[in-house]
Amino acid sequence: MNRYDSERLAELLLEEGYEAVVDEGQADLVVINTCSVREKAEHKALSYLGRLKMLKRRRPEVIIAIAGCVAQQKGASLLDKVPHLDLVVGTHGLAQVPRMLANLAATGRRQCLVDFVYDFGDRPEGSRRPQSAGVSAYVTIMRGCDNHCAYCIVPQVRGRECSRTVREIVGEVESLVASGAREVVLLGQNVNSFGKGLSGNPDFATLLREVAKVPGVMRMRFTTSHPKDLSPVLMGCFAEIEPLCPHIHLPVQSGSDRILARMRRGYTREHFLELVAALRRVRPDVAISSDVIVGFPGEGEADFQDTLGLLEAVRFDALFSFIYSDRPGTPAKRLPGKVPEEVQLERLQSLQGLQERITLERNEAQVGSITPVLVEGPSQVGEGQLSGRSPQNRVVNFAGQPDLVGREVPVLISAACPHSLQGVVASDGYHPLPMVKETSCYGK
Ligand code: SAM
Ligand code: SF4
Repeated sequence: MNRYDSERLAELLLEEGYEAVVDEGQADLVVINTCSVREKAEHKALSYLGRLKMLKRRRPEVIIAIAGCVAQQKGASLLDKVPHLDLVVGTHGLAQVPRMLANLAATGRRQCLVDFVYDFGDRPEGSRRPQSAGVSAYVTIMRGCDNHCAYCIVPQVRGRECSRTVREIVGEVESLVASGAREVVLLGQNVNSFGKGLSGNPDFATLLREVAKVPGVMRMRFTTSHPKDLSPVLMGCFAEIEPLCPHIHLPVQSGSDRILARMRRGYTREHFLELVAALRRVRPDVAISSDVIVGFPGEGEADFQDTLGLLEAVRFDALFSFIYSDRPGTPAKRLPGKVPEEVQLERLQSLQGLQERITLERNEAQVGSITPVLVEGPSQVGEGQLSGRSPQNRVVNFAGQPDLVGREVPVLISAACPHSLQGVVASDGYHPLPMVKETSCYGK
C-alpha cells in the first residue's frame, strides 16, 4: 500500500514538472513516505529525516517532506521537533501535496495536513493517467480498516474503511493497461469487505468480475483477505474468473486459539484450517502465503509450538514473519505478559528455519513442470536473465531476450532455490538437456 502511495505521489510530482533523481544531494524536494506498522520502520524513517539536516544546511532551498503513517500519527509535532522539515502530509493528503508546495512557496510557511477525507473524489487515484506503468501495477480499491486487531496501528493512521466505486477502479485499470500493465494487484486492508457503503452494495466478487472484463488484463491478484471474512463466493472466484491468479495471501498471525483471541482476530485455528482445505478443493493448484507475528504478549512456548504445528499442517508457499512490536494507542500495548526480546528472536529464527524448509520443498516440487511466466524485466541473478512470476506468484528466472518483457512465456522449471525458481523457455520441439545441478539451487 505504501509503495502504491509512493508511486502515485511520484506521478503527481512528474505532472508538476519535477523529475526523479538518483541522488538526494541533487534533489530540490525530498519526500519520505513512511510506515508505522512496526517500531523499527518508524525509527528508520525518523533517523533518515534527522540525517537530512546536513543536506538542508548545505542547501537551504531544498524542501523536505514527510508523508504517510508516521506523518499521520505525529502530525504538526514533527514540525516543532524537526526545524529542517517543511511539510507534513498524512495518509489522506497525498493529492494535496502540489497545493501544499505552492502554499509553501507563496507564503514561506511550513505546511501540515493530517485530516481524514472520506471522499475519493478529492483523491489522487481517480484521475490517474500514468505515463508508463510496469508489467504489474497496484490499484488501491479501498482505504483504511474497520477491524480492531489488538496489535495494529493501521486503523488509527489510515482511518475508517472506505471503498472506491467500481467505475473509478475499472477506469484506473483501463488507463494502467493502456500504459503497459498486464497484471493488476487490487489492494485493501481487507478486500473481503469491499463495497460497504457504496450505492448498490457491490461486493468484492462483483469488482473482480468487472476488472476481469477490461481488455488487456492478463492477470489479476489481490491482497489482503482477512480469514474471518473469506466467503465461499470469493473462494469460488478462483475457479470462475479466468485472469484471477491461483494465489491468496491469507494472514493467520498465530496458530494458537488463545493468542488469536488475545489478538482479536475473530477466527480459530480450526476455522483457518477449514478455509485452507476449502480453497484447495476449489482450486487444487492454489498457492497460499501468510503472515505470522511471534512473541505477542502472553505467547507461551505451547502457543508457539501450536504456530509451528500450523505451519507443518498448512505448508504455506511463502510466509512473512514479524516480531511483535508495541504500537502506541493499540490495545496490545497495554496487555501483560510481554515476551523478552531474546525469546522473540529465538522463536522468529526457528519459525523462519521451518518455513524455509517448507518453501524449498514446495519449490522443488515444481522442478520438471512447465509454467506460464509473465515476464517483468531483467533478473538480478545475472546478465541475459529475465525475471517474472508464475500464476502462483513464484519468482522464475530464465535466459531470454528483453522483447519478452510483458509477455507470458511457458518456462520449464529446471531448479528450485529457496526464494525463486530457475528455468528455460519451453517451446514446441524443445527437448531439455539433462539438467545441471546449480551451486545454490536444487534441480533434478
Ligand atoms: N490487513 C492485513 C491483515 O489483516 O492481515 C495486514 C496489514 S499489516 C500492515 C501487515 C502485517 O504486519 C500483518 O499481517 C501483521 O503480521 C504485521 N503487523 C501488524 N502490526 C504489527 C505489530 N504491532 N507488530 C508486528 N507485526 C505487525
Ligand atoms: Fe490491521 Fe487487522 Fe486491519 Fe489488517 S485487518 S489492517 S491487521 S486492524
